[in-house]
Amino acid sequence: MSDLSLTDRLHALQQAIHAAAADKPVQLVAVSKTQPVAAIAALLAAGQLDFGENYVQELIGKHAELPAPPAQRWHLIGPLQSNKATLISPYLHWVHSVDRAKIVPLLASAREPQQHPLQVLIQVNLDDEGSKSGVNPEVEPILALGALITAQPTLSWRGLMTIPKAQTDEGAARAALARMRRLFESVRKHADIDTLSMGMSGDYLSAIEEGATMVRVGSALFGARG
Ligand SMILES: *Cc1c(COP(=O)(O)O)cnc(C)c1O
Repeated sequence: MSDLSLTDRLHALQQAIHAAAADKPVQLVAVSKTQPVAAIAALLAAGQLDFGENYVQELIGKHAELPAPPAQRWHLIGPLQSNKATLISPYLHWVHSVDRAKIVPLLASAREPQQHPLQVLIQVNLDDEGSKSGVNPEVEPILALGALITAQPTLSWRGLMTIPKAQTDEGAARAALARMRRLFESVRKHADIDTLSMGMSGDYLSAIEEGATMVRVGSALFGARG
């Protein structure tokens, strides 16, 4: 795929997001897992700064290959192992997958004091799927974990993230997104958060219509992953 078609797809995606968002701000995270550094560089040149990666080693490798000073803002969107938290923390602007107390002090202590606070989202297991990481979709456990994040000066709790269960039925998929939005609003009554990360290539438009403020789009931008 040529750089031209990649930037064309970025512009089309930006326009689609803008139209679905009406006047609300919605942030696009370009999910670059398995994609070459050249593709990231082309998008950076086109003004896309937020990139999502699932794997710690892949993110660090790409970081090393991109020119310094880094313009990109890395988002870790994949499951986070405790033994990798300290290693990855200094590279990140955002982490979307915090789902347990143990990880919080590990992420916090690895930040340099002169760095901006790491922006943290709590991952919610919306459909209570055993195979998926995430906090139960209830206000109390989310607030408890959020309080631990807020207590760390090097972290900033910004909101929630979810990966809804794959649904073939559009109505059921919409209902799940709306359920997440209501949970987000309930948590917001008690916490100063503003970010709801939901929506991928298959559902980002409905996710935005249902209240997402951040979408994570991979294959619809880069093409199918190899
Ligand atoms: C891979 C991935 C995405 C992007 O998926 P696409 O369907 O390619 O857009 C978004 N969020 C998470 C957590 C992912 O693992």
